[in-house]
Amino acid sequence: MSSLRPPLAIRMHPADNVAIIANDGGLPAGTVMPPGVAEGVVLRDKVPQGHKLALADLAAGQAVMRYNVPVGYARQDIPAGSWVHERLLDMPAARELQNLPMATVQPPVHEALNGFTFEGYVNADGSVGTRNLLAITTTVQCVAGVLKIAVERIERELLPLYPNVDGVVGLEHSYGCGVAIEAPGAEIPIRTLRHISLNPNFGGEVMVVSLGCEKLQPDRLLPPGSFPIQDIRDEGKGPDLVCLQDDEHVGFMSMIDDILAHAKPHLARLNARQRQTVPASALVVGVQCGGSDAFSGVTANPTVGFMADLVVRAGGTVMFSENTEVRDAVEQLTSRAATPEVAQAVVRELGWYDQYLDRGRVDRSANTTPGNKAGGLSNIAEKAMGSIIKSGTSAISSVLAPGEKLNAQQKGLVFAATPASDFICGTLQLAAGMNLHVFTTGRGTPYGLQACPVVKVATRTDLARRWHDLMDMNAGRIADGELSIEDAGWELFRLLLDVASGRKTWAEHWKLHNALVLFNPAPIT
Ligand code: CA
Repeated sequence: MSSLRPPLAIRMHPADNVAIIANDGGLPAGTVMPPGVAEGVVLRDKVPQGHKLALADLAAGQAVMRYNVPVGYARQDIPAGSWVHERLLDMPAARELQNLPMATVQPPVHEALNGFTFEGYVNADGSVGTRNLLAITTTVQCVAGVLKIAVERIERELLPLYPNVDGVVGLEHSYGCGVAIEAPGAEIPIRTLRHISLNPNFGGEVMVVSLGCEKLQPDRLLPPGSFPIQDIRDEGKGPDLVCLQDDEHVGFMSMIDDILAHAKPHLARLNARQRQTVPASALVVGVQCGGSDAFSGVTANPTVGFMADLVVRAGGTVMFSENTEVRDAVEQLTSRAATPEVAQAVVRELGWYDQYLDRGRVDRSANTTPGNKAGGLSNIAEKAMGSIIKSGTSAISSVLAPGEKLNAQQKGLVFAATPASDFICGTLQLAAGMNLHVFTTGRGTPYGLQACPVVKVATRTDLARRWHDLMDMNAGRIADGELSIEDAGWELFRLLLDVASGRKTWAEHWKLHNALVLFNPAPIT
């Protein structure tokens, strides 16, 4: 491919002194860059695809600029035309969380976007599902094996009788017993589980399978008043519960039969629902990246950022997350906060997370993977600048702590503080109330969730070509010069409305999904 295309370098900002090599397979030493951002620069080294090329001579100690911010400092003199790899860079220090600009930037006022709709399932609390799923919540890992067999039987024997129900999800997890349930931080996994049970894609039907002797008792997981739709209908009797240690269970099959019997009324109510036309303001889109490369911040993440602005303009909600990937851009977050209180909440969450990392004697730089570096991302500062573009340009309207759930007033751009780990971030965004997930990847990941459609966006055409039946959109066309970021953003927005209306993603087609992985900063016993 590289021999067919002229050498191409992409610079993110006119003030940058490095550019990214776009060609598949990189470019060999001796390449003379044609007219464009690097015109006349002669490559001194082979520069791999996605890696940085020095556009000018860089003196030892000089800032290496990408996105018009320093992503590192030259460890030695680096002549123009060199491959600027991570071993040549010192990482910038993390910005302290004092004296930050608080709500100082007036974000551009975007025109409201009207007339866009999708076909969704309207819930009694006003939230809207993009899928119509029965979820069975669990209080403890001990019941996971039993639940798995019950779910298989529900799929085989009951779902054919309830054709409007899209599936059944066993909310299996590793929490519930052998944990210090009163310790600071334990409220995070507990409220995460509670709020996942209330995700809009589950239609307000709550059903719990418990063991009986576990620390996380059902009324602690779902106290009265915490699941309002069903609580009102069932006159506050507590969650619909199957307890495996109940005396009435004699033999394994009685447990399975009991779970199936409890599932039937929930399935009947879900089955009676129909999709109806709702405004795009009912979208709650969680955005995330994983398996990032240097193109993530050039193609896919800017596409997601443009889409995020469209969703916010349509009155919807976009959540961005991944603490360690926004930490280096904290000034951008606090300055873009809608109010000083929102900026304070950003500082509170990132400060708490600094301390959490400090307990493990690491810092945000523990984030980057070997794959990130092979893909051209030298360090977390560079990765963060490419990651935060996913949030678009809107003001940050509110902040959620890990495991918290959006309320009906929290619209617009929301910072949901989570670890960057793909499955933990996805799990916490489910708890926050996401009904649609957008995931960008450069290295490639088959990531999926059972509770919510995941739209995967490839950063490079090469990945989209090889993983043609795993990637839902190819943002690599931007680097190929075939598509503008704006057109790609619109294309993604329209794709989201289709998927929200029932169009299957590739992950759904193949039934690919990752486990729920709870964030538990508290001790286990
Ligand atoms: Ca991630």
